Amino acid sequence: MQDTGLQRSEDLEQLCFWDIGMTACKYIFITGGVVSSLGKGLTSAAIGYLLETRGLKIAMLKFDPYLNVDPGTMNPFQHGEVYVTDDGGETDLDLGHYYRFTHSPLSKASNATSGQIYDTVIKRERKGDFLGKTVQVIPHVTDEIKSRIIACAKQENDTQVVLVEIGGTVGDIESLPFLEAIRQFRYERPKDCIFLHLTYVPYLKAAGEVKTKPTQHSVQILREIGIIPDMILCRCDNTLSDEIKAKISMFCSVPQEAVIDERDVAVSIYEVPVDLHRQHTDDMICRMLDLHTPPATLVKWNKMLENVLHPKDGKIRIGVVGKYMNHQDAYKSVFEALYHAAAAANVGLEICRFESDRINDIAAAEQMIQGCDGYLVPGGFGERGWEGMLCAAQYCRTRQIPYFGICFGMHVLIVEFARNVLGLKGANSTEIDLNTQHPVISMLSEQQNVVNMGGTMRLGAYPCDLIEGSLAFQAYGKKLISERHRHRYEFNNQYKDAFEQKGILFSGRLDQGTLCEISEIKGHPWMLGVQFHPEFKSKPLDPHPLFREFIKATCYAANRSR
Ligand code: GLN
Repeated sequence: MQDTGLQRSEDLEQLCFWDIGMTACKYIFITGGVVSSLGKGLTSAAIGYLLETRGLKIAMLKFDPYLNVDPGTMNPFQHGEVYVTDDGGETDLDLGHYYRFTHSPLSKASNATSGQIYDTVIKRERKGDFLGKTVQVIPHVTDEIKSRIIACAKQENDTQVVLVEIGGTVGDIESLPFLEAIRQFRYERPKDCIFLHLTYVPYLKAAGEVKTKPTQHSVQILREIGIIPDMILCRCDNTLSDEIKAKISMFCSVPQEAVIDERDVAVSIYEVPVDLHRQHTDDMICRMLDLHTPPATLVKWNKMLENVLHPKDGKIRIGVVGKYMNHQDAYKSVFEALYHAAAAANVGLEICRFESDRINDIAAAEQMIQGCDGYLVPGGFGERGWEGMLCAAQYCRTRQIPYFGICFGMHVLIVEFARNVLGLKGANSTEIDLNTQHPVISMLSEQQNVVNMGGTMRLGAYPCDLIEGSLAFQAYGKKLISERHRHRYEFNNQYKDAFEQKGILFSGRLDQGTLCEISEIKGHPWMLGVQFHPEFKSKPLDPHPLFREFIKATCYAANRSR
């Protein structure tokens, strides 16, 4: 369990008022109401971005009310992507939004679940930290929640604003301790905290009206808990009329200008900060928190957005072949990284999703996935859909179509090459076939004796050395890089010579180690697999070098075939 870096104290006063004396840090709490999936993470990140462009130093924190210690053991269908931080945290995908929009420090201290909070409190109880006392949700669990907020602020000593997003929907039983904790937190720092509430204002077709009642009720529930929002952000199909805003303002005791509409964006999530800025959201937040800064500047952002909304150089199609394609968020960072690179190349992008378990053989692959200019096989686990991914890789290799394999996608590249170029019949990853005659991908030695499933993969940032002259080196433009990992299996070095003789270049190696982190196929326009997850480090204003080069190669292939 992580150390929150705080000096534990029985003295609540001391715990809560550590920051008195320094320039008070400000705290923005973001809750959500009515329904889930409103985009609280995105909204929080967009606000974080706007505050940063005003010169403020921010830190972001996500609380998740479920009992898993982290989302690492959850199926992507349940929870979407697991976002990995440099320090090896397996965290909520909203941290991906935080990374893409802001420069907030992101680590294990940036995400906490109820499971983690209770685990810490119970361990302390067993240690005897509360001897003689009854351990209770209030104050022990709420104190732990508050200490996490402070620990997040303290990650860097010049943090000015902490944005805390409370997962779940107001009214859920499981989020109550978090809401109680933030109520107390504000009570202790009345001038330094504000509450933002994101709700849903539906349009009822049959009535021909937008409805404010769910928002009113959601705010009522907050009030019962002792939280009065300072600003209400309304998710809606279209911008809200002044009349509707006035109604929400009156029922919810929020000034009308602090009722913000967050309409469904037409094309890109990167429109959100622009919409919020247009309604003076960041001005108002700074005013409420008594923060005096220059206004926000969105020049670079708007330029990027212009490329996204009106690309100059036609359109390319990328096929993503994976096993969780029906889930909106399972490959969130991969999709975003592709959009970033396309915007930088000023080209339109259509992503075509292919479920790999529908592809049974190479003929099916040719028929089902054809028509894209490049293909990407993302991370994954387990057997389902594996053979279909191999067919996709074979299709790309033999047709000279750009291919980008990420983690599992690199295993696919290697196994396909072993079977069809090296002629190693039945070659496989031991993740898929434990008894394969040719285990070209096998379990990392450090993983052999692992029994606990949570937090035990090879996780987080590792340095990687690149070979000059390779596609990878060309992309990064330097020899030493650092990328984030999340896997148990790796390339089996016993086969290294055989692969090299047939044209694989292992262009990236673990710095001062033997693990093969990048493989490229020589003579192919762009077929590259990486053992790490570059998608976690791509930003709209700073696309990841490998995605940038993959998109470039894809544009080239598209032009050639037109
Ligand atoms: N399942 C593979 C492994 O554990 C790949 C993991 C991934 O794609 N993140 O090595």
